[in-house]
Amino acid sequence: MDKTLAKSVLVTGGFGFIGSHLVEMLLEKQDVGVHVVDNMVTSPIHLPAYLGQLGQSDRVSYDLCTVKEFFSRKNLPVFNEVYHLASVVGPVGVLKHGGRILQSTVDDSYAVADYCLRVKAKLCDVSTSEVYGGGRDGYCSEKDSMIIPPKVSVRLEYAVAKLGCEVALMNMSRVTELDTRIVRPFNVAGPRQSTEGGFVLPRFIKQALAGELITVYGDGRMIRAFTHVRDVADGIMRTMCCGRRGEAYNMGNPANKITILELAKQVAEITGSRSEISFVDPKTLWGPLFEEANDKYPDADRAINELGWRPQYDLQSTILETLEYIRAGRVN
Ligand code: UDP
Repeated sequence: MDKTLAKSVLVTGGFGFIGSHLVEMLLEKQDVGVHVVDNMVTSPIHLPAYLGQLGQSDRVSYDLCTVKEFFSRKNLPVFNEVYHLASVVGPVGVLKHGGRILQSTVDDSYAVADYCLRVKAKLCDVSTSEVYGGGRDGYCSEKDSMIIPPKVSVRLEYAVAKLGCEVALMNMSRVTELDTRIVRPFNVAGPRQSTEGGFVLPRFIKQALAGELITVYGDGRMIRAFTHVRDVADGIMRTMCCGRRGEAYNMGNPANKITILELAKQVAEITGSRSEISFVDPKTLWGPLFEEANDKYPDADRAINELGWRPQYDLQSTILETLEYIRAGRVN
């Protein structure tokens, strides 16, 4: 990598949905070299196409392996900053990892944290809004208690693992020199989100384009707030730069709050689809282990006030960009 660059950055999960946008933005906005560690298991990109489109071959390098494999190597280079995004993800995606999510989340987080401690790299850990359980009827503020619901599920294991690692990282930053901050993304949407991962917006768009039934779970009154992936990538960079050590930041746009039934209607309208809405029990699609989350939307004041975060994309443009990506069948 070019030695004249101002800093070198490591992004675990850098070829994932959020990671690929983060890498792009880092190269766009900062004088950095970026090294990606990604095992490509849930990556939505076609690597040669993505790298070709980046056109920054002298500033990007990568290892296609797990976080564990990468950090077990001897003589790793020194990175100035580490963004840790690699993780199992998604209400459907987590199911087959039940019982091992805690282990991999903990192992990876400690591997990353120990490395950062050793080389004095700044760490930004990307966690999840799932740590709130249900929040206050869906409203989630960093100032609230974290609520762990009583019902055990695979989804809960993911939330508990992420929350446990958050607490451990925060404590490490109190008793050691670890310099870390944490991001909690809410529902992220936009180009490159897989239509196969179970996430609602690409699913609805794909169904609408194919003229298939749009599968609204339950009665569709579930509330979410969708944030464009570029806004999230920008928020993650701001958290690294300006977030307080040992603190967590919600990253979600409360202005894009909507019920899922309304989202289905908007998708049908924007796509001009004749698809009808069907109300289904998700367990009939994904099996008995599938678990829904409660309503969920963020208090984003901390990111707005402390980081100067200003999400740019409203819901309409987020839907439109996702639609454009899916319609074009793009691979990068
Ligand atoms: N959802 C839905 N139909 C689908 C997929 C999802 O009604 O085909 C709903 C789901 O019940 C949830 C919301 O859309 O209320 C967001 O789901 P997603 O899986 O995208 O993320 P979550 O917020 O559950 O992690």
